[in-house]
Amino acid sequence: MGLPAHGHLRTIANMSAQSNAGTDNDLRRILNRIDGKGYPAYKDILGEYEFPGFRLLIDHVQGDPFAAPSRLRVRVSQQVAGYPPDTFSGGSRRVALSDFLTRSFDVTCAHLSGRRGSGKSGLIAIDQPGQAILERTSVLVDQEVVEARFIVGLPARGRRILGRQAATMLCDDLPRIVESALRFSANNRAALYGHIQTAEDADWLRSQLASRGLVAFVAEGAVLPRRSGVDDRPLRDGAIPFHSPPSLRVEVHLPNAGLQAGMGIPTGVTLIVGGGYHGKSTLLNALERGVYNHIPGDGRQLVVTDEGAVKIRAEDGRAVAGVDISPFIGSLPNGADTHRFSTANASGSTSQAANIVEALEAGARVLLVDEDTAATNFMIRDHRMQELITKEREPITPFIDKVRQLYDEYGVSTVLVMGGSGDYFDVADTVIAMEAYLPRDVTDQARAIAQKYRAERSPEGGQRFGDVTPRVPLARSLDPSRGRREVKISARGVKSILFGTNEIDLTAVEQLVDPSQLNAIGQALYYARQRYMDGQRTLPQILDGVMNDLDREGLDVLDRRCVGDLVRFRRYELAAALNRLRTLHVVGATNR
Ligand code: ADP
Ligand code: MG
Repeated sequence: MGLPAHGHLRTIANMSAQSNAGTDNDLRRILNRIDGKGYPAYKDILGEYEFPGFRLLIDHVQGDPFAAPSRLRVRVSQQVAGYPPDTFSGGSRRVALSDFLTRSFDVTCAHLSGRRGSGKSGLIAIDQPGQAILERTSVLVDQEVVEARFIVGLPARGRRILGRQAATMLCDDLPRIVESALRFSANNRAALYGHIQTAEDADWLRSQLASRGLVAFVAEGAVLPRRSGVDDRPLRDGAIPFHSPPSLRVEVHLPNAGLQAGMGIPTGVTLIVGGGYHGKSTLLNALERGVYNHIPGDGRQLVVTDEGAVKIRAEDGRAVAGVDISPFIGSLPNGADTHRFSTANASGSTSQAANIVEALEAGARVLLVDEDTAATNFMIRDHRMQELITKEREPITPFIDKVRQLYDEYGVSTVLVMGGSGDYFDVADTVIAMEAYLPRDVTDQARAIAQKYRAERSPEGGQRFGDVTPRVPLARSLDPSRGRREVKISARGVKSILFGTNEIDLTAVEQLVDPSQLNAIGQALYYARQRYMDGQRTLPQILDGVMNDLDREGLDVLDRRCVGDLVRFRRYELAAALNRLRTLHVVGATNR
């Protein structure tokens, strides 16, 4: 059952290839021979070629010039590539080296393809990383070999093969790219070590948070604002560097960078308050992204958040499948059962409730909430409204009455941007004010104010938070087929996944940062369906299964074709995609 292990496949592929690989001259000969022929003759170049210093593997040849580009790999043995073990020993370093080499390959391609025509004809490209350093399949490194996976637009005029151009690309340009991008000696040594040490420090710091009683750390001098809403690079002009309030300042000894001070955000309930435009959301956004490592120069290299931190927001219009939202939503006017709530069109408050319960089901340890994207009636119900609309006529128990129970009963912390309601002072452990982009610890003042002006509202949260009951997703409710294809899954940027004929809208899942994460999640949904959805396993058990397989065998377990555009994702985002599949059916929620 299921797919054979990736490592096994790869070994076999290599053995069979060893015997019948051609040389670079053979490839050139074929390309010259098919020059001017119809495009399908390009299939003749499928296979493997031994170049001086590396092996080229042509895995997939596109069917026509307008189809998705061809998929190729190069494998450079470590005897030639020459990476010292300390550049890839340990998970952090291996991931960071692979990321660094992907960028190096990308930059080299960009230089070279500048000399060729436009369009996809003549394209040589590798998957492009953004500001985050993520595990990816574009470059793989181990003790034996460095493997790069890239795409090529095999050149044509009309539908006729431009074989000589192709020979220049593959036999002249490619060796130069390999030479200057993949060899240790050709790379900038300081930049390379800086990259892997940055990632290693961030991972180490993240691993220390829990034992220090923190959910996040924001380093002194960090640059949080971004260039624009669509440009994730650091703000260039006028960025105010981060500076910790003395009372929240902690010091850490990083393995590479040494002593580092910063603001520690403690576990529990933390409010971020402050006037409009004073940098509250910017801080929260940095915490959202702090579940990932960032490249040197990003400004957020040492902004690090608990790996289990999940951004929560309202998302009206989304579908919900059998979620027990009863901790937040009681009897609805249409009589729907909120212990097992399904809808094709959730409201602001019910969607936010579902987002929280689903995050808890997937194992979230920290919730990140911004008033800008929260449903007001979900966050707060004040004294006057309680008097006008009595509890019996209001299905919603606001978050303010549940946020402490979440921490006390489940150990789940919340960091909440809330400039609009001081009632939250009563439930907060820590209150941070952002003032002109700098944080101040105002916990004591907020407490004093809460003492002085007692809140007149009455708590509505009851004795306990309520149960989080895992659901059992049903395999048959995931249909990856489209037209004649049994499995057709594709991604559209960081916005959506097309799973068969179903579009999964992920625009509100804000901790997805790389389009290739969506490729991988799309494949992972199918993988989970094939391997783990047996009508018995619960959603968290299925997530465990998939994530364990990724840890053990790598991302290739999701796609046997050795593709270069898979990027690691978290269990929360995998769950988020499944939860947003409109055909999803579940069983096993509480039947009360
Ligand atoms: P709030 O959520 O408090 O209303 P935002 O976080 O949205 O405010 O920030 C408002 C503006 O200030 C944004 O354009 C943001 O990029 C900018 N900004 C945030 N932090 C800084 C900073 N440290 N230095 C300079 N500009 C910043
Ligand atoms: Mg804001």
